[in-house]
Amino acid sequence: MNIASDRYVSTRGLSPETDFSDALLRGIAPDGGLYMPCAWPTLSPEAWSGEADYKRIALQAMSPFVGDALPAGALDRALDRLTAGFDHPLVTPLVELEPGLFVLELFHGPTAAFKDLAMQLVAALTDEALSASGERLTILTATSGDTGAAAVRAFAGAKSVDLVVLHPLDRVSPIQRKQMTTVQADNVLNLAVRGDFDDCQRLVKSLLADEDLRSRGRLSSVNSINWARLAGQIPYYVSATAQLGRAATFVVPTGNFGDAFAGIAATRMGLPSNGFVAAVNQNDALARAINDGLYSRRAAVESGSVSMDVQAPSNFERLVFEATGRDAEATRAVFETFARDGAVAFDPALLDALRSEVSAVSIDEDETRAEIAHAYQTWGRVVCPHTAVALAAARRQDRAKGPVVALSTAHPSKFGAFVSDVLGFEPEPANVIAALGDQPERLTVVEGTLEATLDAVAAFSGRH
Ligand SMILES: *Cc1c(COP(=O)(O)O)cnc(C)c1O
Repeated sequence: MNIASDRYVSTRGLSPETDFSDALLRGIAPDGGLYMPCAWPTLSPEAWSGEADYKRIALQAMSPFVGDALPAGALDRALDRLTAGFDHPLVTPLVELEPGLFVLELFHGPTAAFKDLAMQLVAALTDEALSASGERLTILTATSGDTGAAAVRAFAGAKSVDLVVLHPLDRVSPIQRKQMTTVQADNVLNLAVRGDFDDCQRLVKSLLADEDLRSRGRLSSVNSINWARLAGQIPYYVSATAQLGRAATFVVPTGNFGDAFAGIAATRMGLPSNGFVAAVNQNDALARAINDGLYSRRAAVESGSVSMDVQAPSNFERLVFEATGRDAEATRAVFETFARDGAVAFDPALLDALRSEVSAVSIDEDETRAEIAHAYQTWGRVVCPHTAVALAAARRQDRAKGPVVALSTAHPSKFGAFVSDVLGFEPEPANVIAALGDQPERLTVVEGTLEATLDAVAAFSGRH
C-alpha cells in the first residue's frame, strides 16, 4: 500500500494536506478546490479476477484511501450496512442485452438510484468519524429530488448528524417527495420551500455562511464533490470487470462527472479498461469541452434525464487536475478563468490529455425517447431516461475492441411519467417504491426567505 493514498491535497493547491476523515467532513477544500489523494494506491489483480463479492472488492479498493483516519473496522461496518440495504446479492449486477453489450444495474438500493451506493457509505463513515471526536454535525443540502432522497435514507437515525434538506415545494415528483418525507427520523428536517431549485441552493449557501448558525455547531453539505462519495463509486467498476472476466469500455450517463471520474480513478489504480465515454443529455458543456476544446457555460435546460441537467460539472476539475499532470496552478487558472469569463479554451496539450482519459457524446431528447422505445422493442427492457442516454451512446461504440458496458443509474419506475409517455404504460414499480404506499409524510413548508428558513432550522436544532 502506498502511504500517501490516505493523504489529501486540493486541486487548487492552496489548502494544507489532510486525512480522509477531514476531507470527508469538509467536503470542499478551504481554497475552493476538490480533494484528491496524494497518490493512487495499487489494486491487486486479484480484486477483479476472483468472485465478484462486493464487500471484498470494496474493502480492497477503499481501505487505502481511509488509512487509519477512522476507528478500526469503520469501513467494514459501513460496507455491511450498504450491502444489507441492497436487494441483489451482487449489489451491482451486470446484465447482457446482446452479444458484447451490457448494462450495469446500479439501482438496487433504498431509493432505486445509483446515488445510494456512495451516500450510504458516506453517512455511515461520517457517523464513525464524528463518534471518534464526540462532535455533532448539521448537514444542509438543496435537492431537485434524487440527492435529497438518497441523503435522507442514508442519514436517517445517524447518531451524530442532523440533516436538513430543502426541496422546492410541488416541484419534485411525488415519489421523490415521499422518499424524503416518509422517513420517520427525528434527526431529519424536510423543508419544502416556496420557490424553485435555485432558491433552495441560494438558501443553503446563505445558511452555510450564517454566523449565528455557525456559532452553534459545525455545518457541512453533501454534494458530489465529496471525495468519500467518489471513493464509494470505485468498487462497482471493479465488480463489473470481475463479473465480465475481462476489460470493458464503460459508457457513463453523466451530470457532475462524479460517476465517470470514479471509473477513471479505478484505472489509475490498475483496473484494466478499454476507455470511458461520458454520455450527456442536451446539456452538453462537457461534450463541447472535450470535442471542441472550449469549456463554456450555458443555462441548463430541463430534460427527461433530469439528474444530468448540469452545465458546469463539478468533478471535471478532478479530471483537469489529472490531465495537467497534477498541476494545481494550471488547474486553478482554468477554473478561475471559467468562473470569471464563463468560458475557457484548452491548449492543445491539455486537450490531448483530456481526450486520452475520456470521450464524450451528447444525446438529445428525441434520441433519448427513441432509445427507450428501442430497448423495449429489442430486448423487452424498460429503462429510465438516464440509462437510455448511456445506451444510445453505447450502441455507437465499436464492440470489436471488447465488451461495452452502459451504466444503468436509476430504476425506470422512478421516472415513470417520462417512460410511460414513450411506451404508453407505467413501468412496474421497484420494491422500494411500491413500499412507499400511503405512509404519513413529514415536512415543513417555508417561504423562500433566509429569515423563514433560519427560523425553521433554529427550531429544529433547538430541540436537543
Ligand atoms: C446523479 C445521477 C446521474 C449523474 O451522475 P454524476 O456523477 O453527477 O455524473 C446519472 N443518473 C442518475 C439517475 C443520477 O441520479
